Amino acid sequence: MELPFAESWKIKMIEPLRKSTRAEREQWLKEAHYNVFQLKSEQVYIDLLTDSGTGAMSDRQWSALMLGDESYAGATSFYKFEEVVKRIFGMTYVIPTHQGRAAENVLFSYLVKEGNVVPGNAHFDTTKGHIESRKAKAIDVTTDDAKDTQLEVPFKGNVSLEKLEKVLKENQGNVPFMVLTVTNNTVGGQPVSMENIKATCKLCHQYGVPVVMDSARFAENAYFIKTREAGYADKTIKEIALEMYADADAMTMSAKKDGIVNMGGFIATRNKEWYEGAKLFCIPFEGYITYGGMNGRDLNALAVGLDENTEFEMLETRIHQVAYLASLLDEYGIPYQRPAGGHAIFVDADKVLTQIPKEEFPAQTLTCELYLEAGIRACEIGYMLADRDPVTRENRFGGLDLLRLCIPRRVYTDNHMKVIAAALKNVYDRRMDITRGVAIEWEAPLMRHFTVQLRRLEQ
Ligand SMILES: *Cc1c(COP(=O)(O)O)cnc(C)c1O
Repeated sequence: MELPFAESWKIKMIEPLRKSTRAEREQWLKEAHYNVFQLKSEQVYIDLLTDSGTGAMSDRQWSALMLGDESYAGATSFYKFEEVVKRIFGMTYVIPTHQGRAAENVLFSYLVKEGNVVPGNAHFDTTKGHIESRKAKAIDVTTDDAKDTQLEVPFKGNVSLEKLEKVLKENQGNVPFMVLTVTNNTVGGQPVSMENIKATCKLCHQYGVPVVMDSARFAENAYFIKTREAGYADKTIKEIALEMYADADAMTMSAKKDGIVNMGGFIATRNKEWYEGAKLFCIPFEGYITYGGMNGRDLNALAVGLDENTEFEMLETRIHQVAYLASLLDEYGIPYQRPAGGHAIFVDADKVLTQIPKEEFPAQTLTCELYLEAGIRACEIGYMLADRDPVTRENRFGGLDLLRLCIPRRVYTDNHMKVIAAALKNVYDRRMDITRGVAIEWEAPLMRHFTVQLRRLEQ
């Protein structure tokens, strides 16, 4: 008999979970204004809000913490971290920052000017925020494949070279860089193929435009290249990562994802001028350039995390768990962005709550229902997150309206996946009884989803 698949690690430390009653959850959600970001973590049973900073560190990472060097300048921790970044990505210059958006803030402060245009394959919300707050425009150039959630293609995160070329052509001299996000978070954790990465860099460079890789889940992307793209099956994840970055000019990284640390990020680049420019913004925003908002111990843990999470077995364990959850949803007929992504399952809320109009935010409503059902905190990646158009101030209803079930790294077991799938099935089975959604009572002018206050409309 063939032995079944099992995790490539065992558990050394545990944290108890708390359950609650439906009546408690009704009360808590009301107090949270129907925005799960406003819930206390104690009010949550299984937390799928994000895979950002929620992973479990390894014994090697915990031991690396003890060796942290907290010297203000020139700490050994920085040099260990810098060595790993240079080795994995092949970049020359490295600036630590306290998280991914801080890397964006530092680099974009140097690069983005008012009126600029920055194309990208579905900019992440903070990336878009850092472009738009500088009065520049972020233009999405993701392939149209990504819009059809039921289409099974291996690299749905790809850039549409046609859309990209159109933007580059129409805005010559006004595009400071292009953002290439791996994996493409916004459309469902969907990977970008090596072929597409190379073609995108080549096209940008033809127009004299540099490429910045938004790298939060680069290792998961490398795993998909290895397992789905011809010619990569025999390469290691580290070889693939190096090749992915060979033509890129710079990267920003939220290390809270594929770095498996609770806080951290960085900028790396091959361009000395950019490095010198970004350094000037690192110092006032993040701190001196050898710590950039991070503790020495955290830089140590990140160095180990990057090394560990570019090993095949670690990624296989993770992606297998996400695929397992997807297989349960298949069994129950629940529609999600296909094929399953790297870090999460994105349920197509528009196809579940068909009775609820866009104006009443179906995915946000489904997020509330799942929490009420079983205390599971998922996240809306839809019309609420899409925010308003900065010029017209209209809601942006053009994209997908998804409920994201985001799986923290090395935290939950496959039994938790069973609970999640069953809870979602229960909501799915009574979907026709859910006839009204939510209405906005208060919202912030930028990145409203974190703090928005909502009202549940009467059924
Ligand atoms: C999380 C994320 C960011 C922002 O990083 P933070 O560490 O949350 O600030 C940027 N881009 C992508 C693709 C991300 O997933």
